[in-house]
Amino acid sequence: MTDGIVFDRITIIGAGLIGSSVARAIRRGKLTAHLALADASAEVIAEAESLKLADSYHASVADAVADSDLVILAVPVGAMASVGAAMAAHLKEGAIISDVGSVKESVFKALEPLLPSHAHLIPGHPVAGTEQSGPAAGFATLFDGRWCILTPPEGVDEGALEKLTALWRGMGSTVEIMDARHHDLVLAITSHVPHLIAYNIVGTASDLEEVTRSEVIKYSAGGFRDFTRIAASDPTMWRDVFLNNKDAVLEMLGRFSEDLTALQRAIRWGDGDALFELFSRTREIRRRIIDAGQDDAKPDFGRPHEN
Ligand code: NAP
Repeated sequence: MTDGIVFDRITIIGAGLIGSSVARAIRRGKLTAHLALADASAEVIAEAESLKLADSYHASVADAVADSDLVILAVPVGAMASVGAAMAAHLKEGAIISDVGSVKESVFKALEPLLPSHAHLIPGHPVAGTEQSGPAAGFATLFDGRWCILTPPEGVDEGALEKLTALWRGMGSTVEIMDARHHDLVLAITSHVPHLIAYNIVGTASDLEEVTRSEVIKYSAGGFRDFTRIAASDPTMWRDVFLNNKDAVLEMLGRFSEDLTALQRAIRWGDGDALFELFSRTREIRRRIIDAGQDDAKPDFGRPHEN
């Protein structure tokens, strides 16, 4: 992590969980001389102001981006185009435009035609978050030791890419450069499909109403509880992720369904070896995630238990 101003003026549009965490991490690293914050919601802006997240607060995107060297869009993926259209005519010459959206190809396609040719569009995605929303849910250390994937287009201005990379490093992230389409495929299996599975299993349980009211909640520590955390994630954000990463998610879901059918067959035919082999392989993946510092090694995610 480095300290020191990377951009004279930065604007963040969207002061929710991620936008407010970016604001906190930028201020922690003293990475800008002026941080401007905008949000569509007057209540969110008032809350951000009371949390002292920025140097100036704006209801209008046009006002917020004026004179900014970097603009980061931290709104749901489906709102990127409307924000892009509102700010395009007001951008400073040579401004860098980036975002934190969970899908990358559709964001680039939505923004690129709207922006003036002097602007540098470099989409990004910090692979860090929680199931919460809003400015109070953010924290300065969210990106520490986490990946931030940047998906610059071909022919990107190298100086602009270097500055954006320096900013994310200053916020504690390790930066990876990736092709946007590849990002969407990788995230479909590591993030988007797991969320869909969680939404589905919690939805199925809630459809079984008579058990949901009693036994499902009562015995939820048996695995279900961890799915409910993921299934509590922001509905707007996740609706937009699935609508905007349709092809990659459907491709990975196809693979998932085939593998699920194979498991169903193993159970039906009593093929214990197949089950044991898979469960050993998956346990090894958990070990590798912990070794890579991407999660806590404590049992049951560190929840307190009596000895
Ligand atoms: P959030 O907490 O709901 O914050 C989004 C904020 O954007 C809200 O305050 C929302 O206001 C505002 N907004 C919506 N439309 C807007 C517009 N047109 N102009 C200005 N502000 C607007 O969501 P988040 O979790 O921070 O997600 C933001 C982005 O980060 C999404 O693209 C998401 O894919 C990405 N991301 C999320 C995570 C995660 O774990 N949550 C992780 C990595 C990346 P209202 O509440 O009034 O709508």
